[in-house]
Amino acid sequence: RQALYRELRDKPSVTKDGVQISLLMNAGLLVDLPQLMEAGAAGIGLFRTELQFMVASTFPRAEQQERLYRSVLEAAGDRPVTFRTLDIGGDKVLPYFRSNVNEENPAMGWRAIRLTLDRPGLLRTQVRALLKAAGGRELRLMLPMVTEVAEVRKASELINREVQHLSRFAYDLPTRVKIGAMVEVPSLLWQLDELMSVVDFVSVGSNDLFQFIMAVDRGNSIITNRFDNLSVPFLRVLRQIAEAGERNNTDVTLCGEMAGKPLSAMALLGLGFRSISMSPASIGPVKAMLGTLDVSELSAQLNDAIDNHGETGSLRHVLTKFAERA
Ligand code: PEP
Ligand code: MG
Repeated sequence: RQALYRELRDKPSVTKDGVQISLLMNAGLLVDLPQLMEAGAAGIGLFRTELQFMVASTFPRAEQQERLYRSVLEAAGDRPVTFRTLDIGGDKVLPYFRSNVNEENPAMGWRAIRLTLDRPGLLRTQVRALLKAAGGRELRLMLPMVTEVAEVRKASELINREVQHLSRFAYDLPTRVKIGAMVEVPSLLWQLDELMSVVDFVSVGSNDLFQFIMAVDRGNSIITNRFDNLSVPFLRVLRQIAEAGERNNTDVTLCGEMAGKPLSAMALLGLGFRSISMSPASIGPVKAMLGTLDVSELSAQLNDAIDNHGETGSLRHVLTKFAERA
């Protein structure tokens, strides 16, 4: 298998019926970067910037942040990198930064963009470091845990102010700043068109989205296996996001754990996703699956199963049968 994955590494990512798929990888620290070339990923679909903060004992200084981002971009070469702004709070606690509020449900609490909009100094420092590090190339910024479009507007204003600030001081600016949002809070499902009119791209955080759609704590082992992310309601949700991307001409990626499991990745392609981001070790297995997949045939069968059979449970058996026939 490893030999097969190595052989596939430099081959194009394309399905049996000729559909081009972008296979990206998730990362969070500089040590992850060599994997980009080793796995043959097309780029970094999710760079979790909070990792640098989580391994530190105090807030990383502006220069330290900038140094990391610059090294990441240099290591990635001409492959695109999507930096997610700080997603702290929830299950990602910083030992040196405690809110005095004791939260009973931290996953639904003061975290990610909610926290950084309340502490704009944190966001400004990070954005400035990213803008400086990406001088002369495209910068892709992604906002986590967006609940309403207004949060994107506020963050975009802050980003634009930083761009203006740096240009006044004659810094080498990015050639283009693309701003995206994670779709991982269910409220966004009813604001997709508005959201897509203000962002350049979206990425589905299926870990959190599944947690909130199914009301299943992602860290609670008693119940995490009870519900399947290949069940009809969740597949309908994912399809709705892919369709909104198509309708609005907005790039859509998915960067949760399910992207890295060949069977779920296959389902995502059947639902209309053309770009997915996963842990580097999954790129080989997912690419191997692509070569056997007739995506238009899968799409027809999957949509039929989702719409016409009165079934609302898991479609894992349908997908497995399809995969075995391929
Ligand atoms: C997600 O929620 O699916 C995601 C990719 O983000 P994280 O796992 O970092 O919350
Ligand atoms: Mg998340």
